[in-house]
Amino acid sequence: MAIQRTLSIIKPDATRRNLTGAINALIEEAGLRIVAQRRAQLSQKEAETFYAVHKERPFFQSLVGFMTSGPVVLQVLEGEDAIAKYREVMGATDPSKAAEGTIRKQFAESIEANSAHGSDSEENAAVEIAYFFRGSEIVG
Ligand code: GDP
Repeated sequence: MAIQRTLSIIKPDATRRNLTGAINALIEEAGLRIVAQRRAQLSQKEAETFYAVHKERPFFQSLVGFMTSGPVVLQVLEGEDAIAKYREVMGATDPSKAAEGTIRKQFAESIEANSAHGSDSEENAAVEIAYFFRGSEIVG
């Protein structure tokens, strides 16, 4: 299987509860490497652009409000099959449907405040990583 990179965001509900380290431990236990990491406060424009694919969904404004409600931790994760593997580590979008041991099962507060984002395809991973990181900031 190929070595891939994926964009992870530890969301504001998790940074507010001081869960960055606990989430990073699950990431590393799964064999993924954190090859870039930066704490940031997203602007409304950044959050709207990042989630533009959802702009017609009824929850879009609420999601943008949530993602700008506090700091996030932006990360690039690297490893074998990293995109699908991280989505497994995160669990289902709705925490009530997430498998035991996943980030969202353990930590999510709701379907919106669900603690983590992970890219869903190779194409989106490349776009999302480039949106937040310069190549020189990613050290594998
Ligand atoms: P993901 O790939 O698992 O993050 O899920 P999606 O791409 O479908 O949705 C993006 C993000 O929008 C999710 O991670 C949630 O934070 C939020 N979201 C998804 N569905 C809902 C919903 O029904 N209501 C609300 N308020 N937020 C949602």
